[in-house]
Amino acid sequence: MADPRGFMKVTERETQPKRPVPVRIMDWKEVQEAQDRDTLKRQAGRCMDCGIPFCHQGCPLGNLIPEWNDLMRRGKGEEAIERLHATNNFPEFTGRLCPAPCESSCVLGINQPAVTIKQIEVSIIDDAFENGWVDTYEPPRLTGQTVAVVGSGPAGLAAAQQLTRTGHTVAVYERDDRIGGLLRYGIPDFKMEKEHLDRRLRQMRAEGTRFRAGVTIGTDITWDQLRRRYDAVVIATGATVPRDLPIPGRDLDGVHFAMDYLVQSNRATAGDEVPGQIDARDKHVVILGGGDTGADCIGTAHRQQAASVTTLAIGQQPPTERAPHQPWPTVPTLFEMASAHEEGGERTFLASTVEFLGEDGVLTGIRVAETDFVDGKRVPQPGTERDIPADLVLLSLGFTGPEHDGLHTVSARFDDKGNVERDGYYMTATDGVFAAGDAGRGQSLIVWAIAEGRACAAAVDKYLTGATRLPAPVAPTDRSITAL
Ligand SMILES: Cc1cc2nc3c(=O)[nH]c(=O)nc-3n(C[C@H](O)[C@H](O)[C@H](O)COP(=O)(O)OP(=O)(O)OC[C@H]3O[C@@H](n4cnc5c(N)ncnc54)[C@H](O)[C@@H]3O)c2cc1C
Ligand code: SF4
Repeated sequence: MADPRGFMKVTERETQPKRPVPVRIMDWKEVQEAQDRDTLKRQAGRCMDCGIPFCHQGCPLGNLIPEWNDLMRRGKGEEAIERLHATNNFPEFTGRLCPAPCESSCVLGINQPAVTIKQIEVSIIDDAFENGWVDTYEPPRLTGQTVAVVGSGPAGLAAAQQLTRTGHTVAVYERDDRIGGLLRYGIPDFKMEKEHLDRRLRQMRAEGTRFRAGVTIGTDITWDQLRRRYDAVVIATGATVPRDLPIPGRDLDGVHFAMDYLVQSNRATAGDEVPGQIDARDKHVVILGGGDTGADCIGTAHRQQAASVTTLAIGQQPPTERAPHQPWPTVPTLFEMASAHEEGGERTFLASTVEFLGEDGVLTGIRVAETDFVDGKRVPQPGTERDIPADLVLLSLGFTGPEHDGLHTVSARFDDKGNVERDGYYMTATDGVFAAGDAGRGQSLIVWAIAEGRACAAAVDKYLTGATRLPAPVAPTDRSITAL
């Protein structure tokens, strides 16, 4: 039972400290620091243990938030991690990286700042690893059934861990040289150091999950062969096709997709040699598009000592407070201040890029116009063009969906957005082939990928054995469980 007066005694929301900007941009280590115990307990004590905890409803995983808030308030970390792991395989990822839709739905948020749910979550799992409270679970017996999971991002890893623990023999195939998907080569270390990923992979290996890095399904092994070799296949290949901007000058040297830049930087941070690495040092960097990817480019460019960093967004600047049409408990669109934004750079809104400018095939700048709205469409307003100097442009305009190459050989059908089509039980058009995560729902969030991986595992287990005791937190049709 929570402290019934906690939220009245402590009205201030205190989040974890961050390392000072001038210090943190000199290295790649995590920006956040651990919160001291007393503050953490005080903050956990603000949870009201609501009769109807809207935070549950806001979390795609259905995390048992009030239970572990209270356990942390009472200093019972070992019990707290048991409750947290009951619904979330990887709280060290979500506790660091999730935009926390649970906090947008927190009842306290109606007239006070929300409970620091994400902060409490990451403290629980970090404490648990430090104190040796994270166990490995080896299945009591093997079922003799085999599953291939293709893609080792959060969706593939969650599905693999659930299925391995149930007793199936699971192999995860990954075309990159290292396991982890976007957690490995998309998200920079200053948001999550890779040791958190490696530590979880050690646990998964100890439990029996097998990993096959450097294998591209569709090239090294055909999808058909894979299906014949395994009793079930899970497509968890992500939504990796970047949206392009085919305007004059697109082929100039110096215009790159954000992911090409981030992957190379993450490889260099991991100690790899990256010949011809795209480097922002001493360059005027312009990032087109906001979002997580854009913010990661800002933080990376500052760490590479860029001369200047400018972000251009085509849309309007979102409000800093909830707009009337996005009332509690929906997740509002707000002006985001990620840690990378605190580190400097300029942000310009309503800027439509019309041309990349260059000399002798090399980028020198971009031409932008103010955005106008015509028939609901965003278009450049004639006569408002201006030029901005740029040596490096990073296209961070989102992703159009999963790669389709070769997938048709397992008769994967695609929906009208180009994502892999599946039925209400995560199964694609081919018997025994399932799809989870961004491959099925389009570019989304880690929390959704884990939730889909868990639910897909339940569907695969039922397909293989006729019944399942695995939880299924979300259906493939759930687009947002935060809007009532
Ligand atoms: C730069 C960036 C930053 C982000 N930051 C955040 C954040 O802070 N918080 C958040 O919640 N979300 C964030 N996201 C979104 C989040 O990372 C994704 O929603 C999530 O990783 C999707 O997980 P997934 O397992 O479906 O796919 P992915 O993580 O994309 O993994 C798919 C894997 O499949 C592999 N693969 C593809 N095809 C094949 C094949 N044929 N054979 C073998 N392997 C294959 C790929 O190499 C990849 O490793 C970010 C996304 C990007 C791009
Ligand atoms: S909605 Fe907020 S106050 Fe209520 S139980 Fe959840 S975290 Fe606690």
